[in-house]
Amino acid sequence: MPNPLLTLYLAAPRGFCAGVDRAIKIVEMALQKWGAPVYVRHEIVHNRFVVDRLRDLGAIFVEHLSDCPNDRPVIFSAHGVPKAVPAEAARRDMTFVDATCPLVSKVHIEAARHCANGLQMVMIGHAGHPETVGTMGQLADGDVLLVETVADVARLHVRNAEKLAFITQTTLSVDDTIQIVTALRARFPAIIGPHKEDICYATTNRQAAVKAIAPDIDALLVIGAPNSSNSRRLVEVGRAAGCSYSQLVERAADIDWRALAGIRAVGVTAGASAPEVLVNEVIDAFRARYEVSVEIVETAKENVEFKVPRVFREPA
Ligand code: SF4
Repeated sequence: MPNPLLTLYLAAPRGFCAGVDRAIKIVEMALQKWGAPVYVRHEIVHNRFVVDRLRDLGAIFVEHLSDCPNDRPVIFSAHGVPKAVPAEAARRDMTFVDATCPLVSKVHIEAARHCANGLQMVMIGHAGHPETVGTMGQLADGDVLLVETVADVARLHVRNAEKLAFITQTTLSVDDTIQIVTALRARFPAIIGPHKEDICYATTNRQAAVKAIAPDIDALLVIGAPNSSNSRRLVEVGRAAGCSYSQLVERAADIDWRALAGIRAVGVTAGASAPEVLVNEVIDAFRARYEVSVEIVETAKENVEFKVPRVFREPA
């Protein structure tokens, strides 16, 4: 029996963003410059495949700075860190490199500027996510209030409704965030915010590409890690756009083939921390079972690139 026909809609853009690309390069360059081991505080980006490869090259991943010795370099992950972390590394006279994505750093600067102007901050983000912890940790306790949902907005106790500003995590759902911002502006008309939100170009583009393919597919597979915020948002965006079978898979081995029985069209995308090699692995797994025709659906072109820190640009 010939394999059944299947159209595979490949979302573009997908996968690595400029911030992830830079963070991985920083670890690789640190290993070249200083030799192994190089310590990395938290997963450099949320992807097991990426982390395992860097571990094989000599990176040691830890959760706390206290797990790093004073005499080895340490890298801070792309998600950003509370201010206290580099301060502690400096106090211990450690060599450290900050791989925080420049678009996250921009939010840190925004928050500090508003705070210096006497405003209390409201952060729209996910409690406990390292980016939220890092951004809130730029300011003193009580200077940033966290909201995760529209319902949280009604529960906010602010110091002064006339002196407020908001910031957002960079990897949120664009549509959910608009609703929270609308609720914030309705309750606090004087609140100051960024022109749009702080959701980054990569998150926005990947969500738009999923929305474009969702009407044509029976199932959506998002390649990404369970702790990757932007990947999980892509699953939700797929579902909200009408694709009821919308699943996160770390790699091809996770695909539930029984659940896909009878499908004619599948959508594939990847979160910003998932490498393209895993996308190819998933496409190959479909090719082994179906007569696949691949349709690339490109909704935006990306040419963003971030420089690595100066320490790697100076001659050795
Ligand atoms: S998802 Fe956006 S904010 Fe996060 S690392 Fe990538 S470009 Fe930076």
